[in-house]
Amino acid sequence: SALQEFDLIFFGGTGDLAMRKLLPALYNRFRDSQHTQGWRIIGVARQDLSREQYLNLVSENCRQFIPGGDFDERAWTAFTAHLEYLRLDGTQPEGYAELARRLQNSNDRVRVFYLSTAASLFAQICTNLAANQLVTPQTRVVLEKPLGRDRASSYEINEAVAKIFEERQIYRIDHYLGKETVQNLIALRFGNAIFEPLWRRSNVQDVQITLSETVGVEGRGDYYDRYGALRDMVQNHLLQLLCILAMEPPSSIDPDAVRDEKLKVLRALRPITLDCIKAKTVRGQYRAGAIDGAAVRGYLEEADIPPDSHTETFVAIKAELDNWRWSGVPFYLRTGKRMQERMAEIVVNFRPVPHAILPTSASEGNRLVIRLQPDEEVRLYLMVKVPGAEMKVRPVDLNLDFKQEFKTRQWDAYERLLMDVILGKLTLFMRRDELDAAWRWIDPIRDGWDALGEPPKSYAAGTWGPTASNTLITRDGNTWREDG
Ligand code: NAD
Repeated sequence: SALQEFDLIFFGGTGDLAMRKLLPALYNRFRDSQHTQGWRIIGVARQDLSREQYLNLVSENCRQFIPGGDFDERAWTAFTAHLEYLRLDGTQPEGYAELARRLQNSNDRVRVFYLSTAASLFAQICTNLAANQLVTPQTRVVLEKPLGRDRASSYEINEAVAKIFEERQIYRIDHYLGKETVQNLIALRFGNAIFEPLWRRSNVQDVQITLSETVGVEGRGDYYDRYGALRDMVQNHLLQLLCILAMEPPSSIDPDAVRDEKLKVLRALRPITLDCIKAKTVRGQYRAGAIDGAAVRGYLEEADIPPDSHTETFVAIKAELDNWRWSGVPFYLRTGKRMQERMAEIVVNFRPVPHAILPTSASEGNRLVIRLQPDEEVRLYLMVKVPGAEMKVRPVDLNLDFKQEFKTRQWDAYERLLMDVILGKLTLFMRRDELDAAWRWIDPIRDGWDALGEPPKSYAAGTWGPTASNTLITRDGNTWREDG
């Protein structure tokens, strides 16, 4: 469907995220004719660039991030005709008059300020926007992660933004929620009646969520070392996936109906206190190793990393939910850099049959695997008979391969989320109380590690993390999926 008219202003318009994700996403939507006329993108950054120089920069950079088949010279030229550039230091009041001048005739249009800069600038940018009367009722603000390093700093940022914007105008982005398979998890759970009766402690043995990367810190060592895997991945992406998986059926798909249910999940997370932190968490740090046969350095040898850093590049957690549906079901969360494979996967392991009459079915249950990365797919493993004389069974998957089933091009997560912002759909964005509840659970883990004072466990790059991560789960009689 075509969109209403809008102005989209990117603070950080020359940054990595804008080039790699945001502008290619908008181009793709434009190419699909979702927005046709009456719209404009203004890239804002500190560099002194003419419009022409900016367009050259964008063209050079974005091209590598738009797959060949999607790149169309004419569409690209038509797209860039909607692009402008404004040199502005967001923290200084000076340049805003020019921004106001450019926006003066479009106060009725949807206006989006996308803050793709460090979160430390958000408060000042918002204050400057308001001081220049740039915040209209139709204005929205998009906040990139990370929104703080802990509950207190997150509170400060949100409080500053809330002085200027109402909650309904604030879009806290977590791009995992824009992925097609996450939407599909919602469709699977609430569009089918067969899963709901199974979706509980009586039938589910354990749940595993893995977000593994093969990359290291990729030139962002300075940022990464101050955050680590717990803040960078668990606090947002992993917990958001956990929420979608574990929440009660909302009464509608409306933003607050869904977010109320997600919030309840976060609040039901059993706190991880100092006395159980060693049993329930594992943190690791990669040393030198090999990824796909190529030697790679260890974390401590990466640029901008202090040689004695204790920052974790891997974390595994046994999370538990204190509520009727999930009591006693472990949710194993795991994420790391420089791991054996790049993948994002949710695994729901169902309990085995209560009484086995067939060989090998005794210990294995059915399994639902929802893959977000590298390919998006949903697999349901059922026990079937192996052909032949004997009555032997083994798991075989019913595979829903989206590429096969739907021949249309898959949208990138940012395409969906940007369109949702413009359309005013908040469902896939985090509400402030959700973020706060997530930090409330994360902070004590961080504090616990600090109190223990132990260094993270070492693992070789190109593996599945420290061996302790296996113990974390085998102790309960379970195994990570790639071992099982
Ligand atoms: P970057 O360092 O590549 O770009 C930062 C941009 O902000 C540049 O355009 C810079 O000119 C601009 N900028 C800096 N200070 C400014 C100021 N005072 N006034 C106006 N503009 C200013 O950073 P990035 O990788 O594009 O990340 C941007 C945001 O997105 C950050 O909050 C980051 O944490 C978040 N993020 C990035 C990624 C990613 O893959 N790059 C992923 C998730 C979240």
